[in-house]
Amino acid sequence: MLSRTLLAMSRSGRTRRVITRVPVTRRVVDRFVAGESLGEAAWVIQRLVGEGLSVTVDRLGEDTLDAADAAATRDAYLRMLGRFADLGIAGRTEVSVKLSALGQRLPRDAGRISLDNAYAICEAARSAGTTVTLDMEDHTTVDATLGTLAVLRKDFPWVGVAIQAMLRRTEGDLRDLSVAGSRIRLVKGAYAEPASVAFPDRRQIDAAYARALATLFGSAAYPMVGSHDPRMIDIAHRLIAETGRTPDSYEFQMLHGIRTEEQRALVAGGEVCRVYVPFGADWYGYFMRRLAERPANVKFFLTSLVHR
Ligand SMILES: Cc1cc2nc3c(=O)[nH]c(=O)nc-3n(C[C@H](O)[C@H](O)[C@H](O)COP(=O)(O)OP(=O)(O)OC[C@H]3O[C@@H](n4cnc5c(N)ncnc54)[C@H](O)[C@@H]3O)c2cc1C
Repeated sequence: MLSRTLLAMSRSGRTRRVITRVPVTRRVVDRFVAGESLGEAAWVIQRLVGEGLSVTVDRLGEDTLDAADAAATRDAYLRMLGRFADLGIAGRTEVSVKLSALGQRLPRDAGRISLDNAYAICEAARSAGTTVTLDMEDHTTVDATLGTLAVLRKDFPWVGVAIQAMLRRTEGDLRDLSVAGSRIRLVKGAYAEPASVAFPDRRQIDAAYARALATLFGSAAYPMVGSHDPRMIDIAHRLIAETGRTPDSYEFQMLHGIRTEEQRALVAGGEVCRVYVPFGADWYGYFMRRLAERPANVKFFLTSLVHR
């Protein structure tokens, strides 16, 4: 219930104005977001890479309704990829993009504009020597995102995509997508969805995640296990042992600031763990989804407000 309320708030302009104006919010946001500028984020990324972790960087922003904003987001990604190449960290630092930040929700020409912007980012990633993963947003965007992915993969077969276990359609999507080398980030799903399209119950979502892991590891795809859940990580490890996968044929992924000891333990065990590092001024939607995932985060946030 609390989670659904927070997810509804994540899309409310009025709540956004209230929450983003409370000065103390910033301290709580800092736990999940690596600063507002690329310069600040670059420090965090270099530190993580120095510790043996891999990174995927998200420039925060979503649901853009203006083509000029979408172009500005694209250009920010192009600058960012150039910077990673200059810093010599592109080998371990890729980017994650939300197509709604690149124009997928524009009133006109949304498909063409978001594809053109994503294409330019993929070209820059190729020049920098790294890869791109498409985040997945709410269920209304899945068909458009998979359509864009299919076009991008003709020229950039290494483009990855996030697939949400909570969606009822996912089993079919995974069967279609699990071709050799296909980079698939399996996540539980962070959006409030109607029961007609998604499993409403946490146990059902966990069971769907476990089934999807088995499909992924049993295929020729490159699984990217996007979860902090120790049970899901155990299941992935069992499947890795059963299928004889080597550490270069899959990876774990976790969010910046969450279960950081587990991230380092995976790397210490010789496996790849990629940290999803978001940065930028438009952190509201991302932050609210992180609060919705865990009631303890809301308590931490409210305590900070009281003790400010
Ligand atoms: C790399 C990565 C990329 C993602 N990309 C997408 C995407 O493109 N689209 C999408 O819909 N979702 C995305 N997500 C979010 C995902 O869908 C889940 O909402 C999120 O990962 C929580 O699910 P969980 O698997 O960690 O399991 P949960 O059962 O939610 O959590 C398991 C445990 O992890 C820890 N934990 C989880 N979340 C938090 C938190 N917010 N704060 C503190 N501790 C926490 C807690 O210890 C919790 O008990 C992504 C997640 C990751 C890790």
